[in-house]
Amino acid sequence: MSTKVSADDDRLEFRKAKSPNRLIVEEALQDDNSVVGLHPLTMEKLDIFKYDTILIKGKRRRDTICTAVDDDTCDASKIRMNKVVRSNLRLRLGDLVSVKICNDVVNATKMHVLPLHDTIEGITGNLFDVYLKPYFLGHYRPVRKGDLFLVRGGMRSVKFKVVDTEPGEYCHITPKTEIFCEGEPLKREDEDRLDDVGYEDVGGVRKQLGQIREVVELPLRHPQIFKALGVKPPKGILLHGPPGTGKTLLARAIANETGCYFLCINGPEIMSKMAGESESNLREAFNVAEKNAPSIIFIDEIDSIAPKREKTHGEVEKRIVSQLLTLMDGMKSRAHVMVIGATNRPNSIDPALRRSGRFDKEIDIGVPDEVGRLEVLRIHTKNMKLAEDVNLETVARETHGFVGADLAALCTEGAMQCIREKMDLIDLEEDTIDAEVLSSMYVTNENLNAAVAI
Ligand code: ADP
Repeated sequence: MSTKVSADDDRLEFRKAKSPNRLIVEEALQDDNSVVGLHPLTMEKLDIFKYDTILIKGKRRRDTICTAVDDDTCDASKIRMNKVVRSNLRLRLGDLVSVKICNDVVNATKMHVLPLHDTIEGITGNLFDVYLKPYFLGHYRPVRKGDLFLVRGGMRSVKFKVVDTEPGEYCHITPKTEIFCEGEPLKREDEDRLDDVGYEDVGGVRKQLGQIREVVELPLRHPQIFKALGVKPPKGILLHGPPGTGKTLLARAIANETGCYFLCINGPEIMSKMAGESESNLREAFNVAEKNAPSIIFIDEIDSIAPKREKTHGEVEKRIVSQLLTLMDGMKSRAHVMVIGATNRPNSIDPALRRSGRFDKEIDIGVPDEVGRLEVLRIHTKNMKLAEDVNLETVARETHGFVGADLAALCTEGAMQCIREKMDLIDLEEDTIDAEVLSSMYVTNENLNAAVAI
């Protein structure tokens, strides 16, 4: 694997050397829609100072402006940006962008923004005070006409589009800018993918994520490298761990971040089909994946469709294991389809599947430790307002044995407790809730403790 990885790196190094303002997109460490992180040396080379506004060019002729900050954890050849910025630029992690300093950004006199309709479903009232004012006030955010941005609050996140800016298309929002948000909410556009699960939505699996990305991303994104070098790309990986640890979430995040087609096969479901149908369904899935390549086929509970052949007496199981083996072996030339299998019982699957050339790598997604639990709790409380007495570190300490799904349920239950307490503020006759009421809700320590106890 290492030779292949460095081959790609060399190529990027080469491109980088040709033009130092070309950088590789990397995940942000902080979730700010207006800030990108660069290594101090990169900033020096490009004559960019901290808090300078820079113009970033993405794909499909998209560009935007952001505030640059120094970040010595960022590789000198990379630029860190969050999902909102990546989406505005139509970029995925690992893509190349070009950056340059942008000194002529004017202060906006006016800005018109509108929410996307499905992100405000069920809320009415004063979006400006609840979402926009706290987002812009005191931040001098750079904005680009046409961009989307996501504001968190009131138990959810609302997405807005910058419909118009005056006097130019690239502006800074200052306290003097008049912000309008009147008008019909906008319909969602197809390319708007801010909500899709990404790497930042999976917590407590940093090490495993790194391992998976190494095996999965390169062959899917750059199959030509494997072809050129004459090496076989890996075809599949096996994730094992208890239910609810985020295996499905991880596979989905990889598909989204790499822009792959995602196809999910549920083991027990496919087995419950009529005789012969299971195999044809499996074949069909591989066909569809190939047609839509690059793709990821995720097989959940793979042990149910591929149990050890000597242990099964059922003809169906035997046939379907061989079918799966045949399909995986048949993928020789298809570097752009990757199979990710998930199981809680790695020892109960047919050993033939675990041989090299099939599931080449096995990764253990275990029950998260305290640090992992804290990461997951932070992810699932991102849209909630937490009261000052809430200490997620304490919650993480006290939830030994909880997996990601348990922690997600805990956060939802905490929010439910908080909503129950505020029932008197909510007009139950109405279909919608006032944004200010939502925004006044804080999940308290007591709410979360009550949820832990359930
Ligand atoms: P598995 O496939 O391992 O059974 P899932 O990926 O289906 O688990 O997890 C179910 C839900 O639990 C997810 O949709 C997510 O909300 C939450 N969850 C599980 N693991 C994690 C994690 N590591 N980080 C964040 N959320 C998680």
